[in-house]
Amino acid sequence: MQAPEKCDTLIIGGGVVGMATAYFLMTTAPGMAVSVIEREPDYEHCSTLRASGGCRVQFSCFENIAMSLFSIDFIRRFPQLMATATREAPIDWVEGGYLFVVPPEHASLLEANYTILRQHGCEADLLDPAALSARFPSLRVDDLGAGVHTPRDGWCDPYQMLHGLRRKVIELGGRVVADEVVALDVSGKAVRAAILRSGARVAASSFVNAAGAWSAQVGAMVGMSLPISPLRRFEHYFTCANPVERLPYVKDIQRMAFRSEGVGFSGGVVDSDEPRGYNFEVDHGYFERVVWPAVAHRFPVFEAAKCHRTWSGLYEQCELDGNPIIGNWSGTLENFHVCSGFSGHGMMHAPAAGRAIAERIIHGEDRSIDLSRFGYERVLENRPYAERGIL
Ligand SMILES: Cc1cc2nc3c(=O)[nH]c(=O)nc-3n(C[C@H](O)[C@H](O)[C@H](O)COP(=O)(O)OP(=O)(O)OC[C@H]3O[C@@H](n4cnc5c(N)ncnc54)[C@H](O)[C@@H]3O)c2cc1C
Repeated sequence: MQAPEKCDTLIIGGGVVGMATAYFLMTTAPGMAVSVIEREPDYEHCSTLRASGGCRVQFSCFENIAMSLFSIDFIRRFPQLMATATREAPIDWVEGGYLFVVPPEHASLLEANYTILRQHGCEADLLDPAALSARFPSLRVDDLGAGVHTPRDGWCDPYQMLHGLRRKVIELGGRVVADEVVALDVSGKAVRAAILRSGARVAASSFVNAAGAWSAQVGAMVGMSLPISPLRRFEHYFTCANPVERLPYVKDIQRMAFRSEGVGFSGGVVDSDEPRGYNFEVDHGYFERVVWPAVAHRFPVFEAAKCHRTWSGLYEQCELDGNPIIGNWSGTLENFHVCSGFSGHGMMHAPAAGRAIAERIIHGEDRSIDLSRFGYERVLENRPYAERGIL
């Protein structure tokens, strides 16, 4: 689609965060002219299509829990909300649950997080090793102190989530333009226009940086320093020759994370020390070296595991504290909003984050969830606000 000369809001990046933002802008303020600029029409490198699809309430920060509650409900209702006149909008939601497990020395931390979850109305069970073993017979528990099972969590298909949102945005009148923002024209305290690789200039009243792992580059176009780096992560599809009960999304303190997928399993182990960069190369030895030992330790039946496929993708990692940056550059560039740095949680939080940006642009304030602690101010003041426990 041709870029317009001007619009009300211009969104840079057409992944799940950009599309969710466009959707909430147009449903909250019908008639608003919204353009989404996405440089890769086939989404070859975007993180959304490489995600594992997990959605969970298990966090310790109030904001993440509240965003999950809203987003999971949105994902459950996705087929009704996103159906267009010509297409259904399946999302393959599986309410498979999440299970966090920790060794004895971290049990009190997990218990504290469990209390926070219950205070926020989340369904959650705190399990001791015996109860864990009864519920998940394949799980090795002799070195565990506790686990928390959240049965209403689950996973969906990120491909269908992105394309369902995209089709709905287009049906609502949003313009999705295949082009790249190469510069932003700033004058005074506002961004005035985006300059595209094609040479087009698009003026707008508000701008949203939803460029995922590339958002620091987009921030740099207006002199805004964002501590967001590309962090490569592998996802593996594997099977187990031994019988295993259906597993929830299991996560531990060493960042092992996997779940049932069809007749097999999908997941991996995040290496937080991975050198930052735009590296999509696949290390085909990683599963055998790192993932398989971790999975087989926790579930001895996985001694007989076989990896069938490995792919890589980028987290848009917030180096300050692992939480997203959702907000504008108050006092300097009021009309430039950042929505990035989700550090592995951007697919599940896209609906709530998109709604938050829409509220800020339309109402000038948070109406649904107070996300002020996720603002850019904490970056300027070097005030990390991090999750406690499992990431
Ligand atoms: C292996 C893996 C597993 C994951 N698992 C989960 C999970 O289970 N649950 C979860 O919630 N999250 C998960 N994530 C994280 C999740 O994928 C991301 O947080 C989320 O997709 C971020 O969405 P986004 O729209 O911000 O970024 P993206 O999907 O990357 O979209 C950003 C888009 O911006 C475009 N762009 C960049 N610069 C420009 C420019 N200058 N002009 C125009 N366009 C531009 C890019 O082409 C890209 O398409 C996982 C990620 C990986 C890699």
